Amino acid sequence: MNCPICKEPMIILELNRVEIDYCPVCSGIWLDEGELELLYSIDNTESELKKLFRESNDSKEKSFKCPVCRKKMIKIRFNNTELIIDKCPVNHGLWFNKGELEKVLSAKTNQSSQKVLSLLKEMFSYNKSQEAE
Ligand SMILES: [Zn+2]
Ligand SMILES: [Zn+2]
Repeated sequence: MNCPICKEPMIILELNRVEIDYCPVCSGIWLDEGELELLYSIDNTESELKKLFRESNDSKEKSFKCPVCRKKMIKIRFNNTELIIDKCPVNHGLWFNKGELEKVLSAKTNQSSQKVLSLLKEMFSYNKSQEAE
């Protein structure tokens, strides 16, 4: 699967037993449908998490294409914040630009999301030290 922004091949990383696609060029993250809920480890996915996202028609951000079906993704706003996430119109998944997944996870923390957050931090500090060499 290629990154919807840079079109470079993404790498698969394992995050708390969930496989995520990560772009090493722009540090974006693709989550397949349902994986965000897995990272949160919640069962009542529809009620808890998805009500925090609302479709946003006024975003001026550039649209990107879903890396699975190439359909133009729609913009969704997270929890009435300035945070805009891209979502496949037929629910293949969600695209998070650099740092956006951390923001979503830290908005509503529980034990599982805190674990994922520290894993993400480790992952990105590791990447930074690699770049410095
Ligand atoms: Zn990229
Ligand atoms: Zn799609």
